[in-house]
Amino acid sequence: MSVHYELRCRECGKTWGNAPRSFCEDCFSPLEVSYDYDSLKKIVHRENLASRDFNMWRYSELLPLSEGFAGPNAVGGTPLVASRNLASRWSLKNLYFKNDAVCFPSLSFKDRVVATALAAARRFDFKTVGCSSTGNLANAVAAQAAQQGFDACVFIPADLEPAKVLNTAVYGARIVRINGNYDQVNRLCAQIADRFQWGLVNVNLRPYYSEGSKTHGYEIAEQLGWKLPDNVVVPMAGGSLIGKIAKAFKELVTLGWVEDKPVKFFGAQATGCSPISDGVKRNLSRFEPQKPDTIARSLAIGNPADGPYAIKLIRESGGWAEDVSDPEIVSAIKLLAETEGIFTETAGGVTVGVTQKLITQNRIKAGETTVVCITGNGLKTTDAIAAEFPATEAIAPRLEAFEALLDQQFAAAAGKGN
Ligand SMILES: *Cc1c(COP(=O)(O)O)cnc(C)c1O
Ligand SMILES: [Zn+2]
Repeated sequence: MSVHYELRCRECGKTWGNAPRSFCEDCFSPLEVSYDYDSLKKIVHRENLASRDFNMWRYSELLPLSEGFAGPNAVGGTPLVASRNLASRWSLKNLYFKNDAVCFPSLSFKDRVVATALAAARRFDFKTVGCSSTGNLANAVAAQAAQQGFDACVFIPADLEPAKVLNTAVYGARIVRINGNYDQVNRLCAQIADRFQWGLVNVNLRPYYSEGSKTHGYEIAEQLGWKLPDNVVVPMAGGSLIGKIAKAFKELVTLGWVEDKPVKFFGAQATGCSPISDGVKRNLSRFEPQKPDTIARSLAIGNPADGPYAIKLIRESGGWAEDVSDPEIVSAIKLLAETEGIFTETAGGVTVGVTQKLITQNRIKAGETTVVCITGNGLKTTDAIAAEFPATEAIAPRLEAFEALLDQQFAAAAGKGN
């Protein structure tokens, strides 16, 4: 075997080599990439990374890539922001934001998963790639397909945010709008992948796609000085990212790159689409699918593929899951912007709002190291908060006009104080 990984069934353990397939034909459970860690230990050491650029390809050996693979672009390598203002407001000592709102090239963590999926697409000789998407994934597929010379065709629910549709169209991708919700779009895509021999990143390339999420976790550990945090708060849509951060941490322990320690995983959802947090809170072994109704469109998956695994991980780690309402999401977006200068999309509002709840519930404590995952950029969901900021009155270009405006605002502020 020239590569150190292959697909393995998450339930029955049967291996399937490397191929564009996402489920086990014996037991219909999902497939996942599994690695030969003994070999990996010999071919890569933590010290090897020192001379590499800070982007997701610095962890290439730990990803399902072909031999001699050279990263085509600098995806990932996002900041881990040490919080000062929000930490002090929440009385936490060690609070961090992992900021994938500035991930290259399309401003969400989905750039990471698309990067590993397109590497697989090239290897399996697909000419056309695509996805079913709640928005960010379509942006990432369209951008990276354009750069790498794939034809792109993406499938989205018809009622997505206009900014996310535009952020796909601009790269020249074909966009198919579907009158249905994400779960219906996703079912259609499974049929399309079979019929047309296309590489749909989160359908037939899903095992390779989801491995890209691990790099979000590797970076967190490395940026903490090769240490694991006590708590991670992760937004959940299909429930994949949270599991892959856990897998990343576990691999770093296996490789001897970080010391083992318990990490609590906290999942965040919008109340209007909360099958996973609902399952955790009600102690269900299987979640109940929901019909999404929330402004957090990027998390609006009512029938999450990795939901059962997310529930199990959260429970076994000693963590918890919570959800927040649409008004709470809007408040949390504003709170993060005003305190940390980070403008996140609705998914980040979910994570921040849920973190606040978890602190109130005393599940996240003052002295612990907590990392909050910010996965997307606020410029893509301005519609969600536009009503909070009505246009202000325009004044004449004269000093007196400005002074009059100040007087007026002063009077208004004083009036409010009464
Ligand atoms: C897709 C997405 C998520 C969640 O990803 P899953 O792996 O499906 O749980 C979180 N945040 C943003 C912004 C996303 O686009
Ligand atoms: Zn199986």
